Amino acid sequence: MSQEILRTKVKDLLAKAPGEDVLAKGWVRTKRGNKEIAFIALNDGSTINNIQIVVDKTATDAELLAKVTTGACIAVRGKLVESIGSGQAVEIQASEIEVLGECDPVRYPLQKKDTTFEYLRTVAHMRPRTNTFGAVLRLRSQMAFAIHEYFHSKGFVYLHTPLITAADAEGAGNMFQVTTLDLLNIPKDKKGGVDFSKDFFGKRTSLTVSGQLEGELGATALGEIYTFGPTFRAENSNTPRHLAEFWMIEPEMAFYDIKDNMALAEDFIKSLVRYALENCHDDLKFLNDRYDNELLDRLQSVVNTEFKILTYTEGIEILEKAVADGHKFEYPVSWGVDLQSEHERYLVEQHFGRPVILTDYPKDIKAFYMKQNEDGKTVRAMDVLFPKIGEIIGGSEREADYGKLDARIDELGMSRRTLEWYLDTRRFGSCPHSGFGLGFERLLLFITGMQNIRDVIPFPRTPKNAEF
Ligand code: ATP
Ligand code: MN
Repeated sequence: MSQEILRTKVKDLLAKAPGEDVLAKGWVRTKRGNKEIAFIALNDGSTINNIQIVVDKTATDAELLAKVTTGACIAVRGKLVESIGSGQAVEIQASEIEVLGECDPVRYPLQKKDTTFEYLRTVAHMRPRTNTFGAVLRLRSQMAFAIHEYFHSKGFVYLHTPLITAADAEGAGNMFQVTTLDLLNIPKDKKGGVDFSKDFFGKRTSLTVSGQLEGELGATALGEIYTFGPTFRAENSNTPRHLAEFWMIEPEMAFYDIKDNMALAEDFIKSLVRYALENCHDDLKFLNDRYDNELLDRLQSVVNTEFKILTYTEGIEILEKAVADGHKFEYPVSWGVDLQSEHERYLVEQHFGRPVILTDYPKDIKAFYMKQNEDGKTVRAMDVLFPKIGEIIGGSEREADYGKLDARIDELGMSRRTLEWYLDTRRFGSCPHSGFGLGFERLLLFITGMQNIRDVIPFPRTPKNAEF
């Protein structure tokens, strides 16, 4: 095929006025037609929409056209013309077709049953080529960009925190160990334990469960930072909201108290939803029409409502009253328990009908670094709870007082040895500061309306599953 004309992406073709000679490349979604004409729906991933290719069969090699099957990759040259059919403004009147990659129609999965989300997770090449995952993956990319743009516009510094860490006391979940020791021949120390001094880093190391502790070092030097990277938790919870490898956004801000922290979290998440509504309309509309016709309304309503702020203690009172009034929860509820997502969703969906920020949790269910309240029982935590999801953000004001932090570490029996570097921020020029963590895939669950967290990440990692 001659190369004088550059390829135009389908998204741009669909926005063009008719008249030009164009070159399109992509994968065939469908081919239909009659004796004289074939209609090919071509998609190249740049948009959820296909461009229609009209082929004059009488002027086209039948053998070539037979190779243009669903899934095949083709290049098409022709004139962009006004489309008479409904659904699109323009189409390509093909003058030349080249098959770049054939797709065996017998072996290519095409049956309806072949397109369940579970099945698609097992077919690596096909999944991203479906309309649904195309939409989800474009949204994911757009949201990542929106996050960077948001923080960049506010002067936050993007801080890269390590994925391999020796701090084993973050308390956020079970960690994956990182080692180069020979598992069949593990060196032992005098007491018969593993001799980690022989390991690659000379000590026990793991994959990070959170970049926060390192993030605090950034914030107490640069002012306002955020991290955005992979996070690993070896939690054996096979739920639709947990992955073993996920991405987290963790802003950390010097001189922010918990109120400033909440205000930022609310503004941040609303900005992201607004960005999606303004920039990803075609993909959102597809997901709305195909799976969840309240999606667009739900997104719009989050942008337009003020989040409800209340304390954990007040939240528990509401939940206990619900139980007294006959509402059935799977898990019991009383002051001191860690809320389950059914509880969180009750507050958000049934009671308040809008996103909720719960504050001042019992210290015993929260991490050691959270600022202790005067009551001796609670800490200045804030969790943002969302419809359909439950917890989407977890954050707090941090304990800035060395003495209090030190006492809490003792109380919890944590090892100080791996935390000295962190405690130095409180020893030398300590400052009030706050931060939070947003699970990127939880955000995407909300934005796409997808039901399972495995379906908002290109290559999900869950217990017993690390394919591709
Ligand atoms: P949950 O109670 O839902 O397990 P968590 O209390 O362990 O969450 P944090 O430690 O506060 O969560 O982590 C901050 C954010 O990271 C959470 O609000 C959530 O959005 C996200 N998150 C936590 N664990 C996971 C996971 N296993 N997979 C995906 N996202 C997660
Ligand atoms: Mn968890």
